[in-house]
Amino acid sequence: MISHQSDTKALRQSIIDACLSMNQLGLNQGTSGNISARCGERMLITPSGIAYETLTPEMLLSLPLAGGLDVPFPGESQPALRPSSEWRFHKALLQNHADMGFVVHAHPAYATALAMIRKPIPASHYMIAAFGGDSLRVADYAIFGSKTLAENVVRASANRHGCLMANHGALVLGETLARGLWRLGELEVLAKSYTLAQMLGTPAILSAAEIEEALQAFADYGLKDS
Ligand code: 13P
Ligand code: ZN
Repeated sequence: MISHQSDTKALRQSIIDACLSMNQLGLNQGTSGNISARCGERMLITPSGIAYETLTPEMLLSLPLAGGLDVPFPGESQPALRPSSEWRFHKALLQNHADMGFVVHAHPAYATALAMIRKPIPASHYMIAAFGGDSLRVADYAIFGSKTLAENVVRASANRHGCLMANHGALVLGETLARGLWRLGELEVLAKSYTLAQMLGTPAILSAAEIEEALQAFADYGLKDS
């Protein structure tokens, strides 16, 4: 499914549609956020700083997935359009998560609020298992677009399908684009309910056995029809 995905106009349009959806759903705003897709040895990524409403399929950029994060992207000196400033972390995450085909980054309000106080989301709801473990970590702060930020999000996303990003936002990985958008929405609901629960008292934390049970139940949840 993932390794055979090729760079087509339909895939490019579905990425644009996902960008529009995340803004319409209130999970992101303006030109914040970005989306990438694995296409064999390359990745497709949204351009930097362009309003999603004005994007057309040919405006997405295709970059090689191989190589380190110091190498500038091909044609960096005179690009017609620049790839997302976060191409380094998209590339690093796709390199490190071979089972995932998409990276979705956004600035959702509740997830960002928790990231501002640098508070991870614990196992206070079984849906944490949708992120591959018993917590969502907070990646250490570094300026947007930096190699250090890419290294920080890779570390925070180890054995997870996403993370919060200190003083910035959140990102998720998706087996499919639909799964990526679904996970972003679930991350924001987790962040919101965890925030509300803390106002009411002390959220109870599920046990390791309860989380393991939820992880098993999530192994192929929703994958057949997405
Ligand atoms: P780009 O417009 O360069 O993708 O940047 C948006 C963003 O969210 C940076 O973290
Ligand atoms: Zn951002």
